[in-house]
Amino acid sequence: MSSDRSLRSIVDSAEDPASDFPIQNLPFGVFTRDDRDARRIGVAIGDQVLDVRGAAESGYLGGLSDPAKNALLGTSLNEFAAMGAGTRNNLRRALQNFLGLDGPLRGPAQARKFLIPQREVKLHVPFDVGDYTDFYASVHHATNVGSMFRPDKPLMPNWKHLPVGYHGRASSIVISGSPVRRPMGQTSATDEGPPTFGACRLMDYELEVGVFLGSGNALGTRIEIEKARNAIFGVVLINDWSARDIQKWEYQPLGPFNAKNFATTISPWVVTMEALEPFMLPGPARMPEDPPLLEYLKSGDDVVLDITLEVWLASEEMRQRRMSPMLVSRGSFRDMYWTFAQMIAHHTSTGCNLRTGDLLGSGTVSGPTVDSRGCLLERTWRGQQPLAMPDGSERKFLLDGDEIIFRAYCEAPGARRIGFGECRGAILAAS
Ligand code: CA
Repeated sequence: MSSDRSLRSIVDSAEDPASDFPIQNLPFGVFTRDDRDARRIGVAIGDQVLDVRGAAESGYLGGLSDPAKNALLGTSLNEFAAMGAGTRNNLRRALQNFLGLDGPLRGPAQARKFLIPQREVKLHVPFDVGDYTDFYASVHHATNVGSMFRPDKPLMPNWKHLPVGYHGRASSIVISGSPVRRPMGQTSATDEGPPTFGACRLMDYELEVGVFLGSGNALGTRIEIEKARNAIFGVVLINDWSARDIQKWEYQPLGPFNAKNFATTISPWVVTMEALEPFMLPGPARMPEDPPLLEYLKSGDDVVLDITLEVWLASEEMRQRRMSPMLVSRGSFRDMYWTFAQMIAHHTSTGCNLRTGDLLGSGTVSGPTVDSRGCLLERTWRGQQPLAMPDGSERKFLLDGDEIIFRAYCEAPGARRIGFGECRGAILAAS
């Protein structure tokens, strides 16, 4: 099995037990070495990037069809991802041979030139993203937020019958490390108005997990739930930056708009479904009081992904004083009520076509405890329980200069730990 714990890489840094990127992971990304370069497809191994394009062109990756090799010449992952799980698995095997103890890297220096230190490359949004949809799939998040506004009945009547979502904005998806400018917007002190225009005052993050679609569906057809998982190429971390004061005034009756459209940060490395196999658990659990699902959302073998997710916060002052970021929350993606397979089946149930490179976000990942709440709105309970920061300040919502860092990893008995790297962004003042 390609996630076998005993597999080892000749790249020393990948053998560090704390590395996010052992040979069992091999997440895909798109990188450049300098600004004049065309973008290239790579995979992360330890603290290096393997130039997949270069290795394929030099004939090091055996067992690939010509169309697959051509797809690896692309400047995004779209063409390769569209070829499906079989091609992805062939490449995974070829990469594990190349990077393994008996591969060409132990020989003359020639093959070594395809390994580049990650600190020397710039990473880019790995897909041409046509569409981005964001869901609301954590029952803990939906219940917490709902109870702030509707204490008697936090969940809407539809919530346990369908994965609620909205169509987001693909043009403002940015890669980890990109600065995020605090938005201007219309806000109102009361529900009745009148509004004023100015800088957002209640700036928040949302900790989410996202999937990139490998294969899509033709307009007018559906992706049935049993086939939905197979449509996923891989998984990234998402920060769905949210302007809570803008959201509060604008969201009724059609949902979020400008509160969410100014930036969405993603982690650069796409962790494939193959790498995640050892961390899939049957689920999600349903309680006896939960309503039965309609047939099109039921699956015989649906799974939850057991991904541990962390949020870290560093103020500008903390960074200047070289203080470590503060852990704000830690939770698990296995606590979600809806799966990506259900989201895909529901999204396409009308015949809506998903396309290669589309991004689906899970919605804020919150768990049952205070320290597993995935946004500041919940974590500080609308600012009523501010966080004490190591620099002596306190936080209700994000201030200019604050940097948010998401990290994530998977651990399971008998499996090699894998990680997602980081999804990072710092807030610039409004302008
Ligand atoms: Ca969201």
